[in-house]
Amino acid sequence: MVPIEVNDVSLVYDTPAGTVPGVKDVSFTIDASQFICIVGPSGCGKSTLLNCIAGFLNPAAGEIRIDGKKVDGHGMDRGVVFQDFAQLFPWRTALGNVSFGLEMKGVDRDERDKVAREQLRLVKLEKFVDAYPHHLSGGMQQRVAIARALAYNPSVLLMDEPFAALDALTRDDMQRLLADVWRETRKTVVYVTHNVAEAVYLADRVLVMTPHPGTLKLDMPIALPRPRDPLSVEFLEYQKELLGHLGHNAADQKTNGNAHS
Ligand code: ADP
Repeated sequence: MVPIEVNDVSLVYDTPAGTVPGVKDVSFTIDASQFICIVGPSGCGKSTLLNCIAGFLNPAAGEIRIDGKKVDGHGMDRGVVFQDFAQLFPWRTALGNVSFGLEMKGVDRDERDKVAREQLRLVKLEKFVDAYPHHLSGGMQQRVAIARALAYNPSVLLMDEPFAALDALTRDDMQRLLADVWRETRKTVVYVTHNVAEAVYLADRVLVMTPHPGTLKLDMPIALPRPRDPLSVEFLEYQKELLGHLGHNAADQKTNGNAHS
C-alpha cells in the first residue's frame, strides 16, 4: 500500500471580491494503510486539502506525493467518495456504477462483473446489484459510491463527509461498515468530517485544522483498540480533548449528533 506525503501545501482562491485562503503551509505524511481523519470547523480548508490530494485542485505552493510520485491531476491510484448522493450515475444500476472504473481501464465484461459483485458484497449490497440509484436509500447509495471507489483497486481512498447527509442511525451503521471495509481492504484512507465522534471512531490519527488561513493545528493519534466503543471513558476523553482544541465544550457535541450515542 501507498503512503502519502503533503509538503508545505498552500492554495488561495481568486474571487471577484479578492483572494480567499483555502489552505496554508500544510504538511504531514500518512503511512500505508493508515486511516486519517481531518476535522475542523466549516471553511477551514478540509475539502480544499482533500481535493488537492485527489488532484482536482493544484496547490499554488508545495506538493503532494503518493508513493513518491508527485500528484498531477486525478489518477486511478485514488478513489474518491463525496457527500452528495448525486455522485452516482442515475442511468446505471448499482453493478453498472461499480463497474464504471473498470470499464475505463478496459477490463473485460466478465471480469468487471465479478469484481463489481465482490465490491457490492463487501458493502453488503449483493442483493441490490440490479437496482438503480433512485430505488436505493441514501445510505445504500453511499455504499455503492464506496464500492465504486474501491472497484479499480486504488491504494488510497479519499472521502469528503460521505455520511454527513444521512440520518444519525444510518450514519452509525455506515461508520461500522466502513471500519469493517477498511479492516478487510487496508486502504490508506483520508476522511474529512466535522464530526469529532466520527473521527475518534474511525481514525488512527486525527488532524485538526483551523480557519483563516487553513492550517494544521494538531496531529493526534487515537490509541484505542478496534472495534471502538463510543461510550467508553477513553473514547469520550479523546472526544473531549478534540472538542477542546476546536473550541467546543462537551455539551455542544450532543447537538452535533455523535457516533453511536
Ligand atoms: P471546509 O471543507 O473545511 O469547509 P473548504 O476547503 O471548503 O473548507 O474552504 C476553505 C476556504 O476556502 C473557505 O473560506 C471557503 O469559503 C473558501 N473556498 C472554498 N472553495 C472555494 C471556491 N471554489 N471559490 C472561492 N472560495 C472557496
